[in-house]
Amino acid sequence: MKLKIAILAGDGIGPEVTNEAVNILKAVAEFGGHDFSFVPLLLGGVAITATGSPLPTATLDACLESDAVLLGAVGDKKFDALSPDKRPEAGLLQIRHALGGFANLRPSIAYPALSANSPLRPEVTEGANILFVRELLGGLYFGSPREWNKSTGEAWNTMRYTKAEVARVARVAFELASKRRKKVTSVDKANVLEVSQLWRATVTEVARDFPSVTLEHQLVDSMAMHLMNIPRNFDVVLTENLFGDILSDEASIITGSLGMLPSATIGGTVNLFEPVHGSAPDIAGTGKANPLGAILTAAMLLRHSANLEQDASAIEAAVRTVLADGHRTADIARGNAAAAVNASAQHLVSTTEMGKLVHQALAQSIDQRQSMHAV
Ligand code: NAD
Repeated sequence: MKLKIAILAGDGIGPEVTNEAVNILKAVAEFGGHDFSFVPLLLGGVAITATGSPLPTATLDACLESDAVLLGAVGDKKFDALSPDKRPEAGLLQIRHALGGFANLRPSIAYPALSANSPLRPEVTEGANILFVRELLGGLYFGSPREWNKSTGEAWNTMRYTKAEVARVARVAFELASKRRKKVTSVDKANVLEVSQLWRATVTEVARDFPSVTLEHQLVDSMAMHLMNIPRNFDVVLTENLFGDILSDEASIITGSLGMLPSATIGGTVNLFEPVHGSAPDIAGTGKANPLGAILTAAMLLRHSANLEQDASAIEAAVRTVLADGHRTADIARGNAAAAVNASAQHLVSTTEMGKLVHQALAQSIDQRQSMHAV
């Protein structure tokens, strides 16, 4: 398979974690005989320094010509004095908008080896594996009219959706659920909001095309509670923009560290893949950054932009193996009650060491797969 991947490593720990994710993608290409090419491009603070713009035209053009975009993180304190539209983060918002993805995917997974890292009790998080599908281009963040009228002391925003906007993101959720545990939980506030009534009616209509998938509706307020009570009950959770923003952050505590969280934005001209975390200036250059969020993001890229499900799953399995073997970057060792008890079973590793360990585990599992095929 041929794949051209735009690499926007960005600022702070962005290049450190992206480097490890690219190494894993190179390994997949080598093992599988694929032709992956990587196009490094400037975005964020590094782009401002080099060109004066957080999203240079050359970067945008090259992204639009690629098969997928892999982003690290942007943000640099030295540009804090600039107006928001000139800061590194503006480049991130512009590239997301220009690529046009409307479905944001965020997994929340409880890794058994990290069960003591979540503030939730292990018996609560056990077995949790949720995929959020959040609508990204509509709803309250974009609807008009919107205004803050300072003379009257009023402000308003509009939560607005068309049936077509709801149907297209619902379809993504059902398609993904049909390849997972076959359940979609659609979140709304249909007891109060007309826009949620449209949402619920449209999702129900789309569900008829996916008879193998069970659909349930949850009101957003009770969903916030159920997520923390019985997270293992959920498979794919479908939400509009604002509800998904809040609930996916809430559910991230199931995993226990920001450094472990991947994301994908699909449905636009080119799919965009980025770890959830930012540029973490407090640890940049120290070798403490956890590259697993970026590596798991690379797995999502293979799944959603290359249809290489087996390789995506192999990367995810390699991450589980490395964690089960006790390897930890500082963020996932810190404050871990089990680590204190089992100190001898834990190995503190750097960003690059963690990347190498995942590479080794992946190589072993692919070797096993290939020798099974050979038999
Ligand atoms: P952050 O995500 O960068 O960091 C929050 C905390 O989590 C820090 O203590 C950091 O050390 C830790 N952390 C984050 N990623 C980690 C990893 N992979 N391994 C270990 N620890 C990790 O958020 P912030 O501090 O609020 O923002 C820093 C900069 O990043 C700001 O300029 C902000 O605007 C930007 N930002 C960018 C993105 C993005 O690029 N997608 C997202 C959020 C924030």
